[in-house]
Amino acid sequence: MGTVRVKQVERVKSGLWEKSYIPEIARGLGVTMKHFFTNLNPSVKKRQIFTRDYPFGPADYYPERYRGMHRLMVREDGNVRCVACMCCSTICPADCIHIEAGEHDDPSIEKYPKLFVIDELRCIVCGLCVEACPCDAIRMDSGVHIKPFTDRKDAFFDRDLLMEHGGMSMAKQGGVRT
Ligand code: SF4
Ligand code: SF4
Repeated sequence: MGTVRVKQVERVKSGLWEKSYIPEIARGLGVTMKHFFTNLNPSVKKRQIFTRDYPFGPADYYPERYRGMHRLMVREDGNVRCVACMCCSTICPADCIHIEAGEHDDPSIEKYPKLFVIDELRCIVCGLCVEACPCDAIRMDSGVHIKPFTDRKDAFFDRDLLMEHGGMSMAKQGGVRT
């Protein structure tokens, strides 16, 4: 067995002045004030204002893997790729995907979603539904930033709306995306 090396750290003794937290509070306020006045002055080049005028001024840059509004992908014939397998709704930790399956006319496709609704207000944007889908039917790479809702019912995104933001996917089931 190897030797375990232990480094002993001296306990810093603090006096009454340090224990009152006054110096640290003053130091913290100093940093805040420095940033405040730096950002307030338009002539200072080093301004770093990260505040967005949300929702009126959404961010002009989203990272490549940003998880935006869900979208449902379609097949070459324009029909929804989803086969109502329920994998996404089963894995969803927020229990916000509601699917009702219907029998497909095409015998090679067993089922399709008669009803597919996501409650975007309950969604915690974890992306597990996308990971769980075996046929690349649901994605969150729409690049659409979900706006706040003023009416609760607007938060329910149905199949047709989700397909509007979709696109064609030629992915093989459980295989490579194109
Ligand atoms: S992103 Fe997460 S919480 Fe939202 S619908 Fe998908 S699995 Fe559910
Ligand atoms: S996991 Fe994919 S195929 Fe299955 S129900 Fe969800 S979106 Fe449809």
